[in-house]
Amino acid sequence: MPIPVLPEAFVESMQSQVGPSWNAFLTALASPSPVSIRYLPLKKKTSEENYEKVKWCSNGVYLPERPVFTLDPSFHAGAYYVQEASSMLIEAAVSQLVDLDAPLRVLDLAAAPGGKSTLLAGLIRPDSLLVANEVIRNRYQTLRYNLIKWGLPHAMTSNHDSREFGALEGWFDLVLLDAPCSGEGLFRKDPEAAREWSPDHVRFCASRQKRIFADAAGLVRPGGIILYSTCTYNAQENAGNVAWFCQEFGYDHLPLDFPGDWGILAQELGYQCFPHLVKGEGFFLAALRKQATSPAKTASLKPGRLPAWAPLAGKWIDLAKSCLETPEAFSFYADPDQTIRAVPKALEEDVLIAAQALKRTHWGVEIGQIKGKDLIPSPELALSTAISPAFPFVEAGKPTALRFLKKEQVEFPGTPNGWTLVRYQGLNLGWVKIMDRRTNNYYPKEWRILMEV
Ligand code: SAM
Repeated sequence: MPIPVLPEAFVESMQSQVGPSWNAFLTALASPSPVSIRYLPLKKKTSEENYEKVKWCSNGVYLPERPVFTLDPSFHAGAYYVQEASSMLIEAAVSQLVDLDAPLRVLDLAAAPGGKSTLLAGLIRPDSLLVANEVIRNRYQTLRYNLIKWGLPHAMTSNHDSREFGALEGWFDLVLLDAPCSGEGLFRKDPEAAREWSPDHVRFCASRQKRIFADAAGLVRPGGIILYSTCTYNAQENAGNVAWFCQEFGYDHLPLDFPGDWGILAQELGYQCFPHLVKGEGFFLAALRKQATSPAKTASLKPGRLPAWAPLAGKWIDLAKSCLETPEAFSFYADPDQTIRAVPKALEEDVLIAAQALKRTHWGVEIGQIKGKDLIPSPELALSTAISPAFPFVEAGKPTALRFLKKEQVEFPGTPNGWTLVRYQGLNLGWVKIMDRRTNNYYPKEWRILMEV
């Protein structure tokens, strides 16, 4: 593999950073990027145990080569997320920094496309809340889609700029800021990032990061944690910003314990993955604790009513409940369009608070929409880990599953009429409605596979 064309100023700065390892760094840039995925244990199949494990992530593995993920129906079922291995270090850090056996409020402030959100959602308990936020609207749709596939009802999403979180001041135990950056650590995977790089761009990124970092500072409770990460190497965006932040906002840098054979380089302020030392891309991570003596500014937040949503009442409630495996653990709401969502009771208060504070949010599990005499089940319900196992289903082989995912006509002769889940290797993909003369494919148009199969 050729080395990506590297800007001169980048070469100078990297040579001074890696010193005698410069040649090893260049050799790593000329080798193929490792391919890694992270499983969702709740949807995992036992046949996938034999891959090399990512040392710092319990469900992360390397694949021997890069398959065409789009053509694997279990990818669309949310069985795994394709994630660069160094980013999975978030798991090792979070496990050391917070008590994962306690209920937590966690915010992923800059979350799309959702790699680290899916990781965090799987780490925390089901009665902990994850708010995954993204400011750019089309990136927010991708974040939502990825979290819907992940199917965990304790993850909610919001579509806001970090500066619009003021109402949730002091509310979170843990905030991840995976900041937009100059992407130096991705040059091997994404040569375009190398073409866009310039010292001016680094300065621009560092200053934008400071703004988002400052927005994050107030959101953590005293004693709470901010994890700051980038996929770049330069000190301005990494240690420089961390030093500025700690001094400005009363945070302490926390040491993390990563075994030596992981190859992660401890720096004065933070930890760096280099591609010649780890099997992964470039990544920087720093853990910061808000001083416990910081004034607690938690606003007095009370769960009120959600403007558009009212508790579901009347004849639909029993049908809605029958859609979930443990309906007693959920509260059900409907909006004026008759869309029904279920929210875990353990999180209801927090979800109501966050949804009122943030306005543009999605939360809980969308059960479906009442249309006339029918409840049209939601694609989100099909992918949720909370779905009732009692729904009728058909098991599709790979060609049929792919036709379904392309939203083409599919037939399942001999299957009784009615709403039916299409499954692939035991994993739900979505809904068909089987009728006397035809079968309607309810896979969402915006999710369909566009690639030639
Ligand atoms: N954490 C993501 C993952 O692992 O998949 C990657 C996040 S990416 C490095 C940074 C994201 O922050 C981008 O999607 C960008 O649109 C978003 N962003 C930039 N400025 C923001 C802001 N002020 N508030 C919220 N999100 C922001």
